[in-house]
Amino acid sequence: MPPNAEVPQPAVPPPGPPGAPAATAARTVDARDLPPIAANLFTVADGSPRLIGSACRACGTLAFPQQQSCPRCCGGEVAAALLPAEGTLWSWTVQRFPPKSPPYAGGEAEFRPFAVGYVALPGGIAVQGRLTGSDAPDGYRIGMPMRLVLEPFLRRDGTTVAMYAFASRDGGPGPGEGSRSS
Ligand SMILES: [Zn+2]
Repeated sequence: MPPNAEVPQPAVPPPGPPGAPAATAARTVDARDLPPIAANLFTVADGSPRLIGSACRACGTLAFPQQQSCPRCCGGEVAAALLPAEGTLWSWTVQRFPPKSPPYAGGEAEFRPFAVGYVALPGGIAVQGRLTGSDAPDGYRIGMPMRLVLEPFLRRDGTTVAMYAFASRDGGPGPGEGSRSS
């Protein structure tokens, strides 16, 4: 688990008429075209987002974000590695009140509950991230297949950047989802 993983927050709605939620407008933007929220956090490979972790040359342990040394064996020989883009939901919860600000960039008026979770990726690593793809934050379940996505994220300074999140691989969460095999 990364020691200083930021809990990603949903984009703050821009000023505008009530009833025009930012999420609707934001989804018209392809986040892959936006600058990343931080360098060396993720990249887009063959059109698909991938997290950039690190892999220990000695024991193979993966870490995210990238580490200067291996969190397992303390070895110093680590190399950047693209993490798998799909995994399964390991644990999750719903943030029902505005987090402490900073790092939360939004205001209380704009706050809407959102889900955060850990997604277990092949290779023995679990990555924390916001869960997305559903207007209802309560519909996820442990073990459901998830995939990495990029979403627009409105910063406090008004600029919009790309942030990673995890969405249900088989569509929005809800009854009947997840019965499809791949
Ligand atoms: Zn190691």
